[in-house]
Amino acid sequence: GKRYYGGNEFIDAVENLARERAIKLFKAEHANVQSHSGATANAAAYLALLDPGDTVLAMDLAAGGHLTHGHKLNFSGKFYRFVGYGVTEDTERIDLDEVARLAREHKPKLIVAGASAYPRIIDFPGFQAVAEAVGAKLLVDMAHIAGLAATNVHPTPIPYADVVTTTTHKTLRGPRGAMIFCKHQFAEIIDKAVMPGTQGGPLDHVVAAKAVALKEALEPSFVEYQRQVVRNAQALAGTLAEASLRVVSGGTDNHLILVDVTGLGTTGKLAEKALEDVGIYANKNVIPFDQRKPLDPSGVRFGTPALTTRGFTEPDMRRIAQAIIDVLRTPLDEGVRHRTRQLVKELTEQHPLYPGLRYV
Ligand code: PLP
Repeated sequence: GKRYYGGNEFIDAVENLARERAIKLFKAEHANVQSHSGATANAAAYLALLDPGDTVLAMDLAAGGHLTHGHKLNFSGKFYRFVGYGVTEDTERIDLDEVARLAREHKPKLIVAGASAYPRIIDFPGFQAVAEAVGAKLLVDMAHIAGLAATNVHPTPIPYADVVTTTTHKTLRGPRGAMIFCKHQFAEIIDKAVMPGTQGGPLDHVVAAKAVALKEALEPSFVEYQRQVVRNAQALAGTLAEASLRVVSGGTDNHLILVDVTGLGTTGKLAEKALEDVGIYANKNVIPFDQRKPLDPSGVRFGTPALTTRGFTEPDMRRIAQAIIDVLRTPLDEGVRHRTRQLVKELTEQHPLYPGLRYV
């Protein structure tokens, strides 16, 4: 309703629809749907809540956090003083007592919960208690789990956090983009931090696509989709673990799994390439306490949202897991590579991207 330019009658209608749907889906007090991406959403949240040089406690990138949670080459690490928390060595899960200890020691103005490579439930009420105890604000970056949180397949952070950022293109299954939710009291500073704080004009076509994604996410079938995403991730993890691949934290509660592939005599980089060669896409990833470097780490991260959208279920995931194991064990075996390519073809034809799609 307050644009720099005229002729925005329909653009306003689209954006308001996206905002209403976002608020309804997440039961939030306020939503800004203009953020171009997860990184700029976090930039806006920091701009609204912090001054340069302020201390922030966030998950270490090496333990599963995101670049914008304080990496030294990222704006976040340059403008603010980030302190990292990780996971424990034995459980590979976040230890809230350790987060609380670091919070007491460093007295952050802001605590960030949320991750890019963490397969377990995050205890948002626990984080809220830690933040409250030291007088810090709580920002949850739910980029990865937004779809799960929208359907309570993962507990939602919305009631517990002052501000919640999210991308719209991961489990929420929308276009590349982002949104910010917050309590009423932060609505004005968040909106201003997005525009003019960190962005110029919004990407209106993407805002329209967010509105469509949010409509889909409000359908009852979206709940079943999210449940299946988790069941598929658990089936994948289970079969990989049976073949003595080490699954970080022993399994998953969400849409992703992290696997240590070094036990098979390979590395994350080699595994990513070997799988890509046969049509299986995953990405190399550090594992907690990784002894190897980020560009050739010990782990691979697999996610199930895309395959689940195509209708893959647990038996398919178990066949894929077996193929992954075969390829990683014998990456140069032409027979294995051929059989795996055939399997990929068979499964993707069984579950086309949309009905009627013809491959040429
Ligand atoms: N936050 C988290 C937790 C993420 O995993 C990501 C993306 O991978 C982002 C933020 C950044 O999102 P974008 O790539 O849209 O900037």
